[in-house]
Amino acid sequence: MLHLSEREQVVEYGKRLILERLTNGTSGNLSIYDPQSDHMIISPSGIPYLETKVEDVVVMEARTAKVVEGSRKPSSEWALHIGFYLAEPSARAVLHTHSAYATTFSCLHEPLRAVHYGIAAAGVETIPVAEYATFGTPALSVNALKAIGRSKAVLLANHGLIGWDVSMPKVFSLIKEVEFMAELQYRALSIGKPIIIDSEEMARVIEKFKTYGQQPEV
Ligand code: 13P
Ligand code: ZN
Repeated sequence: MLHLSEREQVVEYGKRLILERLTNGTSGNLSIYDPQSDHMIISPSGIPYLETKVEDVVVMEARTAKVVEGSRKPSSEWALHIGFYLAEPSARAVLHTHSAYATTFSCLHEPLRAVHYGIAAAGVETIPVAEYATFGTPALSVNALKAIGRSKAVLLANHGLIGWDVSMPKVFSLIKEVEFMAELQYRALSIGKPIIIDSEEMARVIEKFKTYGQQPEV
């Protein structure tokens, strides 16, 4: 079986999406990219996360979009995931959810703003909204890439949230943080008028985030 450890991560983090209430039912999807083989290891379409097994995960070649291994249908959003890997050379994992708060703002076509400095986790001060397109279409991929800019995450209008990072643990933390930012924005808006952190300060925070935490030894 190809890419067993990547398949295991797709299964494990899929379960976490449900257990940590980051998505509902079979909504959302996740993938890992191996640049050496040009293989994308992606969740199957419409199988409940808690029932997904390593053999249900599908391996596709990114450049040809051909299934290399797997008997299941790949996620309907395979084109969206491939789009991210082809557009962003450092992307190694992509995660899409229909998390409650981020999706609420996506339904309003309302970006996530610097209500809290943590939004800098996405590398930007504002997380944009991509124009609406039908789920599972190449148009959705085009719209997401058009809107994302330098952000690592983007809201999909009337649909949900998607992001990329250099590994599955990292993109999972990113999506969890973005969902928390959306929850704070929602809560702040519901009892008052949030004060947005100015661009100069956000530029400082974004810079500081580059060296936040334990740095690998040189
Ligand atoms: P899949 O089950 O096909 O991955 O679709 C879920 C989804 O969120 C579509 O946008
Ligand atoms: Zn979706």
